[in-house]
Amino acid sequence: MTAAHRRIGVMGGTFDPIHHGHLVAASQVCHRFALDYMLFSPTGQPWHKDAMPGASAEDRYLMTVLATSADPRFDVTRVDIERGGPTYTKDTLRDLRAQWTPQGAEHIEWFFVTGADAIATIGSWQDPAAIVELAHLVAVSRPGHTFVEPPLPAGSWSWVEIPALSISSTDIRSRVARGEPIDYLLPNAVAQFITKRGLYQTGQGPGAA
Ligand code: NAP
Repeated sequence: MTAAHRRIGVMGGTFDPIHHGHLVAASQVCHRFALDYMLFSPTGQPWHKDAMPGASAEDRYLMTVLATSADPRFDVTRVDIERGGPTYTKDTLRDLRAQWTPQGAEHIEWFFVTGADAIATIGSWQDPAAIVELAHLVAVSRPGHTFVEPPLPAGSWSWVEIPALSISSTDIRSRVARGEPIDYLLPNAVAQFITKRGLYQTGQGPGAA
């Protein structure tokens, strides 16, 4: 008898805010790699602060829950938010692997999915050698994007092109700040949450002075 085998994806991102590009990417990667689940993991402390004000970790988490709740393959984990401090992918994967222990003879195969721009910088992340021991890496990018190969062993990573990734969180934040529409770029519930909380208005939010 063959031991049970589960394949679990971890979708890492700041999700400030989550949009349809992220959701299409997660769905396509689930299909391509025959994943059973995709766990969206909003970062704790984002790595970079740009000129636009960003949402708090709790608001990014809530938007991610709103966006993913209807899809039975998708779930959201709080591991990076509850650990606090800057998010290191090595810790994300270690914490999730500790939570999802295989049952009996079951084997769990892990995939870490994020933007190709982020994965291109993996040489400067904490302990890339440990990360590729913990999960297969999947770099998602938009068509026409010049992909910079990460300094990782062949076979430890894959690259997937996602047309819908021409939508970007940076563009959505800029549109909100300029008072332009964001309809259909992201789930309606997330757009309503942004309005309700007054997120991404110039001079507001946790990034503001
Ligand atoms: P980022 O620099 O904000 O994003 C870089 C690019 O990738 C942007 O174009 C972004 O578009 C896109 N992107 C980010 N997450 C994506 C996703 N899940 N699916 C599709 N596109 C995505 O990246 P970040 O959010 O800070 O970090 C991404 C992940 O890498 C996080 O899980 C983070 O913890 C991890 N990371 C780890 C380390 C480390 O361990 N030292 C260092 C850096 C990043 P959008 O803005 O539209 O999302």
